[in-house]
Amino acid sequence: MTANLHGRDRAAWAAAAAALSIEGRSFIDGRLVDAASGRTFERISPIDGRVIAKIARGEAADVDAAVASARTAFERGDWRRTAPKERKRVLLRFAELIRGDLERLALLETLDVGKPILNSVNVDVPFAADCIAYYAEFADKLYDEVAPTAGNELALVRREPLGVIGAIVPWNYPLIISAWKLGPALLAGNSVVLKPAEQSSLSAIRLAELAFEAGLPPGVLNVVTGYGEEAGKPLALHPDVDMISFTGSTEVGKLMMRYAGESNMKRVALECGGKSPHVVMADADIEAAASGIAWGIYYNMGETCHAGSRVMVHESVRGKLIAAIEKVAATITLGHPFDPATQMGALIDQGHMQRVLGYIDSGVGEGARVAFGGRRAFEATGGYYVEATVLDDVTPSMRVAREEIFGPVLVVSPFKTEAEALAMANDSIYGLAAAVWTADMNVAHRMSNALRGGTVWVNTYDRSSLATPFGGFKQSGFGRDRSPHAIDKYVDFKTIWTAYK
Ligand code: NAD
Repeated sequence: MTANLHGRDRAAWAAAAAALSIEGRSFIDGRLVDAASGRTFERISPIDGRVIAKIARGEAADVDAAVASARTAFERGDWRRTAPKERKRVLLRFAELIRGDLERLALLETLDVGKPILNSVNVDVPFAADCIAYYAEFADKLYDEVAPTAGNELALVRREPLGVIGAIVPWNYPLIISAWKLGPALLAGNSVVLKPAEQSSLSAIRLAELAFEAGLPPGVLNVVTGYGEEAGKPLALHPDVDMISFTGSTEVGKLMMRYAGESNMKRVALECGGKSPHVVMADADIEAAASGIAWGIYYNMGETCHAGSRVMVHESVRGKLIAAIEKVAATITLGHPFDPATQMGALIDQGHMQRVLGYIDSGVGEGARVAFGGRRAFEATGGYYVEATVLDDVTPSMRVAREEIFGPVLVVSPFKTEAEALAMANDSIYGLAAAVWTADMNVAHRMSNALRGGTVWVNTYDRSSLATPFGGFKQSGFGRDRSPHAIDKYVDFKTIWTAYK
C-alpha cells in the first residue's frame, strides 16, 4: 500500500481527498456525537482557504459527558484491570489499525494542517503507530518494585493509574503528539479525554474510532473537539480530571497551572514553546551544519516546537554559513501539499501566516537584513504559504531573537568567543533544545554540558527516537514525552508496607 501511495501524483491525491468523507463529530463513550448545543464551526484548509469540514463545537456540557464516561470506564475497571497481555494486544491492534488507515489519516492530516502529503505518509502516521506499539510492549514487561527493608517486612512500590487524563494538544503534529500522550496514558490503565486544537480535529476523531475498533472499552478514549477557551478550559478546570497533559504555547501552558490550582490540584505536565539555538564554531563542518540548520527550521514549515530557529555563528564563517544554508534551502521545495515533490507546505491559518510575516517586518524594522526569502508565496491559491527565510544581523534584544515565530524564519547573530556564544544561546526564557557544531570534542563536551535544553545535539539536529525523552528546561515546560520516563507521569506511586511473622 505504501509503495502505491508513493507513486501517486498531485491529481491522484486531490481526487482521493475529494472522495473522502470527513467526520467532524466528537467521540464520547464509544460513539460519534454532535455537540450538546448542536453548534459547529468551520474548518478551513490552509492549502487553499476552502472549508473542508464542520466540526462539533464542544463546550462544558460535552466535556462533562466525556469526563463522566472516562470516569465510569475507569471505575468499571475493564481496561485498567485487564490482564497485561490483553492490554498489549489491544494497543498493538490499535497501532496496526493506524498503519492500515495510512491513506485516510495522511489525507486528513494534510488537508487539515497543510503539511506535505509525503511527510504525513512517511512520518506522521507511521510515527504515531510506532509510538502506540512502543508503549504497548511495556504492558507485560514493566515491573513494579520491591524496596529494601529489614527482615519480616515487605515494601512494594506500585504504579497505579491516575484515573482520568485530559490531553490538550496543538496543531503542528496532531497525530504524533496525541500518540505521545495516548501511548503511556493508556498503557498505564488510565482513561483519556483528548482535546485536539481547533485547527486539527480530524485525525484525532479518526484515532478515537480506531482505538475503539481495536477493542478499547467505551469511555477509555474520548475526543472532545472545540476551541481552547470553550472546551480546553472546562477540561483543565474539571474537578474530576486527575491530570492535564498539555502540549502547546508557553502562554497557555501557564494557564494550565492556574486552572489546576483553582480546581482540584490536578497534576500538570507541560510541553511548551521553544527558541532553540544552534552554536556554529569556526571549525565546524559548514556543509553539514547548513544542512542540519536548514532542515531543522524549514521542516514542517518551521511549525515545530524544537525548530532550531536561532543561529549563533562565529563571525569568521558567517557569510559562508548563510550561503550554504541558502543553497540547501533552495533544494527544499515549497509547494502544494498534495504534490509529492513538495517539502514545505502551507502554514496553519491566515492569522498565523500574518503573524509570521509580521515578525519578518518587525525584524527588518529593528535593523535585521533579509538574507533570503521573507515573502508570502502562491497567494492566488488562497492558501497560506511563506518562503524559507533567513534574517541576518540580528541582535539578541530584537523581538525576532527572543520570541517564538513558529514559522520558516531563521535568525542569525555573529559571535567572537565561545563564552559569548554560550551566553547568547542560553539567554532565552525557553530551553527545549540546542545544538553545537564543532570539530573539537572538548568544545562539544563543554558546550553540550552548559547549554540549557532538554535535548542537545552535537554535529547533528533533530535526531531522536521513542527511546529518548523529549521535553524542556525553563519555560519550555516540564515532564517528558517518549521513552520509559513518560509512563511515570501517568501514574501515582503507592507504597504497600507489610509486616509479617
Ligand atoms: P496553543 O497553546 O494556542 O494551543 C494548544 C492547545 O491548547 C489547543 O488545543 C488549544 O485549543 C488549547 N487551548 C488554548 N487556549 C486554552 C485555554 N484557555 N484553556 C485550555 N486550552 C486552551 O498552541 P498552538 O498554537 O496550538 O501550538 C503552537 C505552540 O505549541 C507553540 O508554542 C509550540 O512551540 C508548542 N508546541 C510545543 C511542543 C513541545 O513538545 N514542547 C510540541 C508542539 C508544539
